[in-house]
Amino acid sequence: MSYAVPIYQIPTLEVAGQTARFPIRRIYTIGRNYAAHATETGLGGGHSVPGISLKPADSILAGSRLAYPPATAQLEPEIEMVVAIGTGGASIPSRTALDHVFGYAVGFDVIRRDVLADCIKNQHSWDLCKSFAGASPVSAIRPVADVGHPAKGAVWIKVNGEERQRGDLSDMIWTVAEILARISAYERLEPGDIVFTGTPKGPKPVVRGDALHGHIDGVGDLHVTIA
Ligand code: MN
Repeated sequence: MSYAVPIYQIPTLEVAGQTARFPIRRIYTIGRNYAAHATETGLGGGHSVPGISLKPADSILAGSRLAYPPATAQLEPEIEMVVAIGTGGASIPSRTALDHVFGYAVGFDVIRRDVLADCIKNQHSWDLCKSFAGASPVSAIRPVADVGHPAKGAVWIKVNGEERQRGDLSDMIWTVAEILARISAYERLEPGDIVFTGTPKGPKPVVRGDALHGHIDGVGDLHVTIA
C-alpha cells in the first residue's frame, strides 16, 4: 500500500519484563474521580456518572523530556493510574470488566490549566487543554499477571524532590471496573486503548527544568523532566 502523505509511527509503551511493546490506540481520561480533587476544581464531587474525555494517541511522550507547550501559562501534571486494555468488548458489565485489562502503569495527564479555565469560561470544548505533543507521559506497563488489579496503595508526585500530590487508589470514586463498563457502554473498547483513571487533589504548576517523579504503590515509577 502507498500513502498520499507520510504515515506516522503508532505510539507504543514498554511492557515490563517483555520485549514486545504495547501499541496505543486511544487514550481515555476520567475527570474528578477523587472527591477531594473534584471539590477543589469548583466543579463539585458526588457526580452520578464519571466524566470521560479523550486525548490523541500521539500525545504519548516518547522518552522522558517533555517540551513545555506553546500558548501555555500554567502547565500541570496530574498523577494517575493508567489502565491498559488487552481484549476488546462493547457494553461490558462491571463484574467482568477486569478480564479485559492487560496491565497497569503510572501516568501524568498533563493539563494546560489556564487554557482549561478559558475553555470553561467561554463554553468551548476542553480538547486543547490536554492535546499537545508529550501531554501523556506513561511508564512501562506492568502486566496483570505481575501486579494483579491494584485497588489500594499510595499515589504521589514529587517535583524536584518535593511532594506535590498524594492520595490513595482506594479513594477513587469510580473503580476501574465501573469506568470500563461506562466507557464501553458508549464505544467498544479495543486492545491498545488506555484509560487515565483520575487524579488526587492538589495538582500544581511546573516550569522548565523541573524534575517530576510519579509513584503508585505496586504499579511503578515515572520520571519526566520539563524542557
Ligand atoms: Mn486527569
